[in-house]
Amino acid sequence: MTEFQRICLVHYHEIGLKGHNRSTFEMRLLKNLEALLKPFPVVTIHRIAGRLCVFLREGCDWQTAKDAADLAAQVPGVARVSCGFKCERDLDVMAKAAIDAMAEAGDFDSFKVAARRNHTDFATGSMDMNRIIGSALAGAYPGKRVQMKDPDVTVGVEVVQNAAYVYARSLPGVGGLPVGSSGTVACLLSSGIDSPVALWRLARRGAVCVGVHFSGRPQTSDASEFLVDDIARVLERTGCIARVHTVPFGDCQREIALSAPPPLRIVMYRRLMFKVAERIAQLEGAGALVTGESLGQVASQTLDNIRCTDAAVEMPVFRPLIGTDKLEIIGEAERLGTFEISSQDAPDCCTLFMPRAPETHAKLPVVLEAEAALPVERWVEELVEAAEVRDYACPAYKPKRGRR
Ligand code: ATP
Ligand code: MG
Repeated sequence: MTEFQRICLVHYHEIGLKGHNRSTFEMRLLKNLEALLKPFPVVTIHRIAGRLCVFLREGCDWQTAKDAADLAAQVPGVARVSCGFKCERDLDVMAKAAIDAMAEAGDFDSFKVAARRNHTDFATGSMDMNRIIGSALAGAYPGKRVQMKDPDVTVGVEVVQNAAYVYARSLPGVGGLPVGSSGTVACLLSSGIDSPVALWRLARRGAVCVGVHFSGRPQTSDASEFLVDDIARVLERTGCIARVHTVPFGDCQREIALSAPPPLRIVMYRRLMFKVAERIAQLEGAGALVTGESLGQVASQTLDNIRCTDAAVEMPVFRPLIGTDKLEIIGEAERLGTFEISSQDAPDCCTLFMPRAPETHAKLPVVLEAEAALPVERWVEELVEAAEVRDYACPAYKPKRGRR
């Protein structure tokens, strides 16, 4: 049990952050962290010299502080999190805090001290602080050696205006930009492996994500909807997903399957999906669609078919996985925590009314002709109207007026 107040220092990459941009970025990250760390005993979060400092309540135990740091490290915009203590600006006290911090740094053999003062009104210079605190640590941990280059643990000591911060445990964050700093996107979210990863890529670049899921209902069960909800709950931990619109798509697929040439079915389903997603995106104030397609992976993901699908909408369509191998996508899904959910089988509209030999080189004029026989515009209206909305906790999301 330590006598010091626990803190987490949240570092972000400063590259590309200038002027007004920078304070907007910091405020957005601060607000996101404030909301996501609600379950933890946080007193306040301050901006200090290019970092955010999370102050935990006095008496907060190690495990709780560790859990808070682990969560913060998964939040887009966070490059690194360091765990430690706030203490008095007194070298003996700082050395004691450093000894406590190092006890919580995990297994290590070598260490160094990196001290700095943001206020020169502190008499001791950084070199002297390194030496004094370093020798106190060497005394307390006789088995450990000091190593200047690539030590296992770097004990950070920072003297600011009224206090000192001392930390040792440090973990890498996911990097990127805070959610809400890059607008909103609408993500076509299946219960498969790829689309949650595609969504996450955009979230890491600062986009608020709204999911659009096409269920095979009423032609299939609602099993895929439960999986998508599970996936959304995983994504929700990082504050990146605001809501999911679930569209009952089975009847329209059936209609297409009854009237369209079988090889063209998939392209036609997908054009309708894109049109519905674009309408929902407009209602949500989103500026682009996102899919988990990767070139050549399945019949619908050939260049010709992608072009035919894109021609259905005016919005830009982002495909962050287009040049990615399945194994890489699986690796990302595992790290994200969605892989196991996505590996469960659930019938959705993808498994419904599939042709035996889908067209891999669809020609737009042929597709448009087949589509002209169908009441596509009415369907889009009806499907958007029939969509069910489920909300998730996303601190950066501002619902559009008039939207459920
Ligand atoms: P995923 O693993 O994401 O399902 P996939 O490899 O199964 O992708 P497709 O089924 O061709 O490939 O889907 C390509 C993309 O189209 C998906 O990544 C997703 O963005 C979108 N999509 C497919 N099915 C659905 C659905 N039922 N609801 C919403 N979007 C879908
Ligand atoms: Mg799929």
